[in-house]
Amino acid sequence: MAAFPDVTTRIVEQKPGRLVLGQADGVACRTMEMFEAFGFSERVLKEAYWVNETSFWRPDDARRGSITRSGRIQDTEDGLSEFPHVILNQARVHDFYLDVMRGGPAPLEPDYSRRLLDLAIAPPGADGPVSHPVTVTLERTDLALQGQLETVRARYVVGCDGARSTVRGALGRALHGDSANQAWGVMDVLAVTDFPDIRLKATIHSAHDGAVLIIPREGGYLVRIYVELDKLADNERISSRNVTAERLIATARRVLHPYTLEVKEVAWWSVYEIGQRLCDKFDDTPEGAAGARDPCVFIAGDACHTHSPKAGQGMNVSIQDSFNLGWKLAGVLRGRCRPCILHTYSAERRAVAQELIDFDRKWAKMFSAPPKAPATPTARASIRRSSRATSSSRGVSPPARRPDTTPRSSRPSRSISTWPRASRSGCASIPRRSSAWRTPGRSSSATRSRRTDAGACSPSPTRWTPPPRAAA
Ligand SMILES: Cc1cc2nc3c(=O)[nH]c(=O)nc-3n(C[C@H](O)[C@H](O)[C@H](O)COP(=O)(O)OP(=O)(O)OC[C@H]3O[C@@H](n4cnc5c(N)ncnc54)[C@H](O)[C@@H]3O)c2cc1C
Repeated sequence: MAAFPDVTTRIVEQKPGRLVLGQADGVACRTMEMFEAFGFSERVLKEAYWVNETSFWRPDDARRGSITRSGRIQDTEDGLSEFPHVILNQARVHDFYLDVMRGGPAPLEPDYSRRLLDLAIAPPGADGPVSHPVTVTLERTDLALQGQLETVRARYVVGCDGARSTVRGALGRALHGDSANQAWGVMDVLAVTDFPDIRLKATIHSAHDGAVLIIPREGGYLVRIYVELDKLADNERISSRNVTAERLIATARRVLHPYTLEVKEVAWWSVYEIGQRLCDKFDDTPEGAAGARDPCVFIAGDACHTHSPKAGQGMNVSIQDSFNLGWKLAGVLRGRCRPCILHTYSAERRAVAQELIDFDRKWAKMFSAPPKAPATPTARASIRRSSRATSSSRGVSPPARRPDTTPRSSRPSRSISTWPRASRSGCASIPRRSSAWRTPGRSSSATRSRRTDAGACSPSPTRWTPPPRAAA
């Protein structure tokens, strides 16, 4: 919205400032394509860890209590995208967006320390719809002005306010699905280990101590370890379990046995609970009311759908939701699209969220199931499906000029450069790059593997030392 001086936008956030650490980190190829549209994909490519391969470990039948590698596969299918699947901290991704917002023709900065308390939608008046039908009440959360109320009147409001969304509550909507939450522990650590795949994305199942997921962090030193904890009882919160970072480290150590894990520093850790849940509609209009009135309040991201972090899609699907809604809102506000286009947001993105939750259920079941011998074929088939399913950009981009009737399997991956011009979509001001990256060789596994640092860090038998940084 910072691209449009004729649109007034306000972003409010209850936290006192920008995100600094933690949360999600997986950036799918399709999200990279969106970053390309915003002009910061090259910064992400330079800073991120490239997930070129995934390895699988299972209990060793020959040595009780030990694990053995059962497979190592290419992470992303050839031809899926011109971009790789990468890992970069969500805080950095936020920073890049903030830079774009600050540098736009209509510079935009979030208003921090403001909590949304309530939202009301005015019914149409005798003369038709009200021009600014949504009234939002905000409460200041900064010490100096704590408790002070502010009111904002808007034509449109988008609630990107997370899994416990107040906006969703104000619309009378709820997330439906699992009754109980799955608890997760996650930590970014500086580790010394002789586990050979510490610089690869790796899923590790032990015989009796559960499973962990390893995601190397950008920069070459830290590693993220996800530890699946217990399923919580209905209405139980993970905070009541008093899980500590030491417990997460102890679990990871048991799973990695006979390899050693010595944690030198915990840069960030968190426990959180999550269920596979979906909202029945992503806007304020009742089902079947498309002809009667157009939506003016929307929800996006975790406010609409929640799922496990195993498929690494929380941030991606949320960014893609907002991208879909963003260009439509800009089109309507600038008089280039009719408001009825806004109905398509919920229909398109809910279908994608449903697909993701179905996939996540299967993937989560497979991840948590006791490992079978040999694990490789199932794992391989599933990870291939995963790279396709979780890279879906359906319902994200503006409509194509002509429907593409080419069979999906023989189409090249969709690229931002194929999108229509602004006259139809309202996307004119999104910076487009004439991309030197866009060469056929770039999407090949050979090119991608140039950037992996997996091979460069085979550990000594007893100690793992940080690998040299891969050349850009
Ligand atoms: C602590 C934590 C750890 C996570 N770790 C992982 C992970 O390891 N891997 C992974 O894949 N995903 C993780 N996630 C999920 C992932 O970050 C989300 O899927 C993704 O950020 C979705 O983005 P979102 O904007 O929809 O919601 P969020 O990122 O939750 O952002 C919602 C924002 O709205 C603000 N907000 C909420 N209510 C109000 C209000 N009333 N008024 C004003 N502001 C409000 C919040 O402060 C927050 O900044 C984590 C989420 C959290 C919260």
